[in-house]
Amino acid sequence: MLAEFENCDIYHLSLAGGAARLNDGLADIAINWGGGLHHAKKSEASGFCYVNDCVLGILELLKVHQRVLYIDIDIHHGDGVEEAFYTTDRVMTCSFHKYGDYFPGTGDWRDLGYGPGKNTSINFPLREGMDDDSFRYVFKPVIQAIMDRFRPGAVVLQCGADSLTGDRLGCFNLTLRGHASAVEFVKSFGLPTLVLGGGGYTMRNVARCWTYETSVLLDNKIPDELPYSDYFEYFGPDYRLHIAPSNMENKNSRTYLENVMGKLLAALKELPIAPGVQVQTGAASSDQTPRTISAFLEGGDQADPDKRDVEGHADAKEHAAELYDGEKDVYDGQDTDSGAPGNAGSVQAAAGSGGGASSAVPMEGGTTDADGDQELS
Ligand SMILES: [Zn+2]
Repeated sequence: MLAEFENCDIYHLSLAGGAARLNDGLADIAINWGGGLHHAKKSEASGFCYVNDCVLGILELLKVHQRVLYIDIDIHHGDGVEEAFYTTDRVMTCSFHKYGDYFPGTGDWRDLGYGPGKNTSINFPLREGMDDDSFRYVFKPVIQAIMDRFRPGAVVLQCGADSLTGDRLGCFNLTLRGHASAVEFVKSFGLPTLVLGGGGYTMRNVARCWTYETSVLLDNKIPDELPYSDYFEYFGPDYRLHIAPSNMENKNSRTYLENVMGKLLAALKELPIAPGVQVQTGAASSDQTPRTISAFLEGGDQADPDKRDVEGHADAKEHAAELYDGEKDVYDGQDTDSGAPGNAGSVQAAAGSGGGASSAVPMEGGTTDADGDQELS
């Protein structure tokens, strides 16, 4: 347990550091590829996530900004972040994810927020086989409408790489360019932005993805040919940065995408422009909590914040790589570190000082199979 708490501490520090640098105007963009643990709930670990650094980062940004936008392009629904801010109009959450018999089972387009938070939870449920064209087709209009309507002061972007083609758990067909088109588009608004990692289970592609996205964020063109490194062999047989899509069927028809997009854009039209009134939120970098959020943090919805009512979660979908005791434990009780969502280390860097995807390189102790994946041993 100690190691977990130490990890939590690292997440918290790197995260608060990134958000604080943005708040202080010391950086335009802060990157933490070790973060993006979007499934963790207030008192419940879920889907490899113990501490929801996305939520902590948003809370920090709310000390300075009236409204914060959270965007999530991991293949899984950003349920922990949505739940944290479901009833406030100070945070808009927008998640693009696989939906239907898939972890965590939430993220229907009808889940739009509640009370003052109505129409500030946007969910785009997708089918398998999502390709670059379809992704660009839905991402830009939805985000543009949110920017026009919600007018956030800062953005948190979760870049889970399990939405890439060939992911071990994912079932989308995005290339690095399609995935990074979201990063590029969000960057074009010039808002203070905290960029986070997330899932990603074909590690060589996680490293490729976050390396490429670091280069996009820094406006640094990098060659397709990979430079030699200790991990060079993982990137064979082509030793290239970019990856090709597979020939899998895209089950997201244009009609389906148009239909869902129409409903989401209609919901956004009901949102007042730049909702809420200017409020004093708390001193930046202090422990003071934004006023509208304090009820949530203090356990306003239940007596004991350390106890969580999980009854309603009984039918929740299991993560495809969830660990089990007994005969369901496919990993045989051995070290499963390499199954973590690309979080071998916590890397936090303000734009301009590196970033890098070193957290995603294979760790020692595993074995490598024929196609270069590290096996859970
Ligand atoms: Zn994921």
